[in-house]
Amino acid sequence: MSKVKRVYSFGNKTADGRADMKNLLGGKGANLAEMCLLGLPVPAGFTITTEVCTEYYENDHQLPAELMPDVWEAMKKTEEAMGMRYGDRENPLLVSCRSGARSSMPGMMDTVLNIGLCSETIPGLIKKTGNPRFVWDSYRRLIMMYADVVMEKAEGIEPAGGKGIRKLLDELLDEFKHSRGYQSDTELTADELKTLAESFKSKIRESIGKEFPDDAREQLEGGIKAVFKSWNGKKAVSYRRIEGIPDDWGTAVNVQAMVFGNMGDTSATGVAFTRNPATGENLFYGEWLVNAQGEDVVAGIRTPHPLNNDTKNEQNSHLSSMQEAMAGTYQELVDIRETLESSFHDMLDIEFTIQEGKLFMLQCRTGKRTGTAALNMAMDMLSEGLIDEKTAVMRVDPSQLDELLHPICDPSAEKEVSPLVKGLPAGPGAAVGKIVFTAEDAVAWNRRGETVILVREETNPEDVEGMRAAAGILTARGGMTSHAALVARGWGKCCIVGAGGMQVDVAGKKAKITGSDIVLKEGEVITLNGTKGNVYTGILPLMDATENPRFQTFMQLVDKNRTMGVRTNCDTADDARIAREFGAEGIGLFRTEHMFYGKGSEQPLFLLRKMILSSDEKERRNALDELFPFVKKDIKDTINAMNGLPVTFRLLDPPLHEFVPQGAEKQAELAKALGITIEAIAKRGETLHESNPMMGHRGVRLGITYPEVSEMQVRAIFEATAELMKEGKDPQPEIMVPVTCDVSELDVTKKVVDMVYAEVCNKFGIDKISYKYGTMIEIPRATLLADHMAKTAEFFSFGTNDLTQMTFGFSRDDIGGFLNEYLDKKMLAADPFQTIDQAGVGQLITMAVQKGRATRPDLKIGICGEQGGDPASVEFCFKNGLTYVSCSPFRVPIARLSAAQSAIRAKK
Ligand code: PEP
Ligand code: MG
Repeated sequence: MSKVKRVYSFGNKTADGRADMKNLLGGKGANLAEMCLLGLPVPAGFTITTEVCTEYYENDHQLPAELMPDVWEAMKKTEEAMGMRYGDRENPLLVSCRSGARSSMPGMMDTVLNIGLCSETIPGLIKKTGNPRFVWDSYRRLIMMYADVVMEKAEGIEPAGGKGIRKLLDELLDEFKHSRGYQSDTELTADELKTLAESFKSKIRESIGKEFPDDAREQLEGGIKAVFKSWNGKKAVSYRRIEGIPDDWGTAVNVQAMVFGNMGDTSATGVAFTRNPATGENLFYGEWLVNAQGEDVVAGIRTPHPLNNDTKNEQNSHLSSMQEAMAGTYQELVDIRETLESSFHDMLDIEFTIQEGKLFMLQCRTGKRTGTAALNMAMDMLSEGLIDEKTAVMRVDPSQLDELLHPICDPSAEKEVSPLVKGLPAGPGAAVGKIVFTAEDAVAWNRRGETVILVREETNPEDVEGMRAAAGILTARGGMTSHAALVARGWGKCCIVGAGGMQVDVAGKKAKITGSDIVLKEGEVITLNGTKGNVYTGILPLMDATENPRFQTFMQLVDKNRTMGVRTNCDTADDARIAREFGAEGIGLFRTEHMFYGKGSEQPLFLLRKMILSSDEKERRNALDELFPFVKKDIKDTINAMNGLPVTFRLLDPPLHEFVPQGAEKQAELAKALGITIEAIAKRGETLHESNPMMGHRGVRLGITYPEVSEMQVRAIFEATAELMKEGKDPQPEIMVPVTCDVSELDVTKKVVDMVYAEVCNKFGIDKISYKYGTMIEIPRATLLADHMAKTAEFFSFGTNDLTQMTFGFSRDDIGGFLNEYLDKKMLAADPFQTIDQAGVGQLITMAVQKGRATRPDLKIGICGEQGGDPASVEFCFKNGLTYVSCSPFRVPIARLSAAQSAIRAKK
């Protein structure tokens, strides 16, 4: 048997791996290899595969025995490429040890830098660099990171309340600086840093009870294990759950020769995007810091400088850019940008370091972007010939369309007020909400239905769940590439970072606005304009984002690639018009009962109540006759608004008691209007009362007991259609029977439909009215007997709200009481009322589709439950050969894009 390859080397313009090996090498490892193959300057190193992470967990947290020998073999190649030796006394090589999952999880896992510094190697490095200050500074950074990541977090012994070893060492550092009257770390001398390193080590001994390892080999092994352990760290697990990243993917570990951006004024470090990640503009965009290590840029400790003129903004324009300060190296970076984009055909997020004037690429990955940026870049790259149409369609995540249609601050209202404080526009759109100061509060307040803005001093990957729960995020520190900015942008969340005019006091749950008496307290409402970076007190009116003109062109491409239909759920002509503008190809669900709620419903509701309270069929028919013109008008207007497209009318569904007024006062009013006694109303209410109305007298069962009710609705549909036909229109009605469980229900109802059909044709003197007759599939029994149902039904529409309720036995109205427990304990991957439960409900759907089409090969099949607008559910529907999905008007574009992407993926 050939030996398993666990370690892949890269460096010196060659590599064992490639960009398309992300599953094995993680995104970072695969791209490091690719950059080497492209001939870019990458410090040499090696990647330990994601499979080793799986082995590590399967093997009870033990590295496979063969791994470390392989690592030391690979280290030899790295040493050769770098001309240095790991652990050597004279010419020591230092390495970094970083995580790298298949898809990027910014800041969620751990990194250790400067590994290999110990008493053996320190003197040699001082001699070689002639820079003792640099060496001792690197050493104290290693101690801090190692103690935090390897000795504490990976061991799972981090104390609660943020009082971990990192905090203790930070405090030591602060005290030390304070005792010498220093403001900044850079004022510490070499000797002082050396003393500090010793106090760090004693603190670790005292606090953790173990020695900081003084052996280069032991340090590296510890670093590798810690990265694997961080895959199961709290924040990484939360992030995976939110992003839907499977737990068993594992992370790779990248061990790479260190290069230093903190070796003086000719050294620097930076992060950049090959295009603007907020707007999509084709401009190089980034931040950098002279004499700093990578973590300094992203951690928000120092205010990063703009990379170039295009990155300057109000907050940073006074700071020198790399374009100005290191023009030659900047040009080299610009060339690398070109090489990378033309090789990866996408916008990339890069990290680089300049060590004494020499540029090194440390990482590149597909850059996270806002929805607007995703759309603009896709269309730009298409016209630049960098990508083809199908790729352009795949470049926008369906959930990002939601963000494109998101509200913004009403510009006219915004003109009238001045911002309380300004920051960097990290995530676009607007958000209004109550201030909270901790991630835990954001989650808790959100769960009780409050809309919140999470206000933090700086961004911290630990806050990820709170950031998710908040409508907007505001931080006092950090740059456009800080963790909060990256994460928020990835989610399309409104976010402002680096609002320096605000001092956050988390303990006191307040934030003070510098230079004023204003203090923002927990619970106060603020408005964020994440597109401009402005913060306002109180509520500012929001409005829908004006449509990006490119949106339409993009959606044309989407439709060109889409094969499955997309309809909408709506019940009024007005909504039908909106849905048509969003691209709906018909109505998949018109809930008849909605005409009895809301605006203009008084009269029809009164007549419906009159019908419900009738004491015999005759009275009921009289009431129905009065109701008929209202129902017909609504139906006619809606068919007209959707002229030429199908409209599925569902016969009355809810149990009738829902329409009987509850309070004594309302009952008295109705009694008076109807000329009957209050007792009669109360009595009728009692007779209609059911213990379990969702499984009671509803749906088709109403029409079975009161055929005259179905008769009136069917007549309204046919007459409206006949009238439109006479007006030269192209009406396409469909009659849908809800809550069925047996074909006999469809047959009994069909008799009523046939009778009315003949009468209406006769009345209007026409031979034929085109229509379809079908059923909702929302009871498990109906899926089991779908072959029978399809004998009468010409179409099925899966009512996955009820189907989910009845399959799980989870009440759709009461799941809120226990759903979070199920999600937190990972007993459910997602809310089944939002995303189809493919394992259970999905099986019933698959079976019903097969059985239905076995009886009737041309059976039209749709879905009209809430899941119809959810991308994962749309993909499932596509794979099961559904004719269309139907969802609320605002989700129609999302469903169109999801359907197109499913079709493109299926062809690959
Ligand atoms: C369903 O059950 O999925 C459905 C669309 O019907 P309703 O939500 O009206 O019960
Ligand atoms: Mg239903």
